[in-house]
Amino acid sequence: MSELAAVVRDARNEVLGAIRSGDRFLVVTHEHPDGDALGSLIAMQALLSALGKDSVIVISPEDFPLPHEYRFLSLDGLATSPPADLPLRTVMFLDCGNLDRNPLAALHGADPLVNIDHHHDNTLFGSINYVVEEASCTAEIVWDLFAECGVELTSEVAEALYVGLVTDTGRFSYENTTPRSHAMAGELIAAGVDVAAMYRRIYEEAPVGKLTLLCRALASLELFADGRLAVAILTAADFTHAGAEDSDSEGVIDHLRALAGVKVAMLIRELSSNGGGTQHKVSLRATDNDVDVSAIARQHGGGGHRRAAGFTSGLGTVELIDAVRAQV
Ligand code: AMP
Ligand code: MN
Ligand code: MN
Repeated sequence: MSELAAVVRDARNEVLGAIRSGDRFLVVTHEHPDGDALGSLIAMQALLSALGKDSVIVISPEDFPLPHEYRFLSLDGLATSPPADLPLRTVMFLDCGNLDRNPLAALHGADPLVNIDHHHDNTLFGSINYVVEEASCTAEIVWDLFAECGVELTSEVAEALYVGLVTDTGRFSYENTTPRSHAMAGELIAAGVDVAAMYRRIYEEAPVGKLTLLCRALASLELFADGRLAVAILTAADFTHAGAEDSDSEGVIDHLRALAGVKVAMLIRELSSNGGGTQHKVSLRATDNDVDVSAIARQHGGGGHRRAAGFTSGLGTVELIDAVRAQV
């Protein structure tokens, strides 16, 4: 066993120890929770409940409304601020690469703090850090804990885990898709996931505003660096005109990365809620390993995976494009 594998195995044992010895838990994730974040939260809470533990999920009020594609998921025991007995709880961060990505500052000094994630640039901010880079999604790590704890998957849990799996693997199309991801999908389907119904819920049944927003994004498409960089911009006015929510831009960037010749796709969104000055949320996707977009994102205070990363910046669109262009 390599040194790294031994570290990961030890961390897994530490997590299992924390689960077995704790009575009360608090589970959180990153801001603007995505499918993996929500699926992992729900499944982890179900695991803790099945083991007779008390657990609350805390999601900050500014993260609501959740993206419409995830609203069918039921979040039991959800709170929007940490409960009064916080010091008595084991705090678990799921799918969160660094503390800054969670808006609840009260949790940042928690002890014990269990950090379960799959981002290679995770800053190891926990007292226990269980980071599995090879896992396609955090849901895959949580799924493994179910087996280890001998807890059976209900169809609700299987659906939650499936949401994490299917969204983080880009519907089983990204390079993080492994035999294990497919084995997990097989088990989840056997446990009751209706694949076609889930697809319809996550990727279809979209409000028309989402399509209008996509039209506006595609109309703004520009290619740089001999077609290796594809950029689309969405302004606050685009969202207003389309009657779209922030999360309706999810998926736009996949159209940019689908273009022949594109190495890096970039979506720049003007954030609607800004106090002083315009803030831009930048999403980056790479189509191969030639450019590590997480390194670009880290230069701007963000992070992510080698082929999918993001950051928020006060820079203007021209400066942002120049900065990425220089790397491509
Ligand atoms: P997005 O473009 O928002 O879909 O994010 C793509 C990937 O980058 C995800 O894995 C996120 O976890 C990561 N990411 C996005 N924004 C940030 C940020 N500000 N800091 C760290 N990681 C981020
Ligand atoms: Mn996530
Ligand atoms: Mn994830």
